[in-house]
Amino acid sequence: MDGDRRSHGLWAASAPPAPETVPLMDDDSADAVIVGAGFTGCSAALHLAAAGRRPVVLEAAGIGFGGSGRNVGLVNAGLWIRPDEVPEAIGAPFGERLIAQLGDAPGLVFDIVERHGIACEAVRNGTLHCAVGRKGLAEITARARQWRRRGADVELLHSRATAWRVGSKVYAGALLDRRAGTIQPLAYVRGLAASAIRLGARIHEHSPATGFEDLGGEWRVTTAGGSVTAPWVIIATDAYSAAICPDVKREQVMLPYFNLATRPLSAEALRSVLPGRQGAWDTRSILSSFRLDATGRLVFGSVGALRGTGTRIHADWARRALARIFPRLGEVAFEHGWYGMIGMTRNAAPRLHMHGRNLVSISGYNGRGIAPGTSFGRDLARLVLGEVAPDELSLPVTRLEPARFRAAKQAFYEIGAQLAHFTASRP
Ligand SMILES: Cc1cc2nc3c(=O)[nH]c(=O)nc-3n(C[C@H](O)[C@H](O)[C@H](O)COP(=O)(O)OP(=O)(O)OC[C@H]3O[C@@H](n4cnc5c(N)ncnc54)[C@H](O)[C@@H]3O)c2cc1C
Repeated sequence: MDGDRRSHGLWAASAPPAPETVPLMDDDSADAVIVGAGFTGCSAALHLAAAGRRPVVLEAAGIGFGGSGRNVGLVNAGLWIRPDEVPEAIGAPFGERLIAQLGDAPGLVFDIVERHGIACEAVRNGTLHCAVGRKGLAEITARARQWRRRGADVELLHSRATAWRVGSKVYAGALLDRRAGTIQPLAYVRGLAASAIRLGARIHEHSPATGFEDLGGEWRVTTAGGSVTAPWVIIATDAYSAAICPDVKREQVMLPYFNLATRPLSAEALRSVLPGRQGAWDTRSILSSFRLDATGRLVFGSVGALRGTGTRIHADWARRALARIFPRLGEVAFEHGWYGMIGMTRNAAPRLHMHGRNLVSISGYNGRGIAPGTSFGRDLARLVLGEVAPDELSLPVTRLEPARFRAAKQAFYEIGAQLAHFTASRP
């Protein structure tokens, strides 16, 4: 999408084209200006347009340029942290509200896909959180218990059932979450954008917002080519925040994550590898994820950036890791590789900030942005519509909190992943 094959990889090669847009070239007005065209911004635009409002979306690069066009496509329920940890992380009454909202969020994604006819390889057959060893089994057992206590449709699978579902004997068990599923993420975000435009939203790509001016009751958001004036501004730039909202980015530590996609597997291999087409990831701290796309390519990912020495180290490791997980696949060749940055917050919970009157942002998804971004985008639309007040949302409004030792932590993640994969791939 940005001329670099390692930015959006397979998703850029297989997504339907983005809707055509033009950069902002004049002065305009709107009911809300949305900065950033990922899941959060496009969902906010879609819900505002569906309610008869006129949102304008400004996107610095292209629709889905950020995490939304680069991710694994696991439409998960809940957050990275366990349900019982959420109230501790964000306090009452928000914790249980957030768990309930994000438990239902995959349903919102699949409803939108169906309602708007978005072609994005959507499969709602559940996801598998695969346990590595006894520690991993204890982890998924605790998660299963905590979700079931809240009435969620999850099932703990023993090792034999897991082996059948995954097509591999390496896992001690798995948590099957039937609320969840997979999508082609770039196709989904482009579909959200196209649906929003059809309902009356305007989206301007290649239009980085460069400044906010408080006009007293309204905001003027400027770009190099023009400006948009509106009573509300939504900042939806998350880990890809460019210069205009440095505070949103400084609050997050960037964790690189890559994906490699094989050529389509043979019909025989597809009978055993993820035969139910669930998306999967494991309980390791340097985790691996794997899923199939619509053509039967296996998309395999882990922590790391495909740049410099990382390109070779991670690909070598991935080949060996796949041979260990799926020995019957034999030697695999990767046809696509790409990576992106996941924004991590101190307590692994997303952040809601009011930067000024009617100037709002939600960010810090910690690798869980498809369903949460869609759901928070709808929340932000409701805020603009006056249907909810900020304290009725499921996240507390917090002060910006720059991450401590950010550069050192980022270097540690990238170099640490290379070291771990280099060591693990030595014979
Ligand atoms: C490799 C990877 C794997 C992941 N896997 C998963 C997964 O399987 N499941 C899951 O749920 N989540 C996953 N995530 C997380 C998820 O992709 C993100 O949380 C989500 O995409 C965030 O969406 P967003 O709309 O808030 O931000 P983004 O999609 O990052 O969009 C922000 C946009 O803002 C634009 N922007 C920035 N500054 C400006 C400006 N000044 N003016 C205008 N526009 C601007 C950027 O260009 C960008 O397009 C993954 C992320 C990565 C990187």
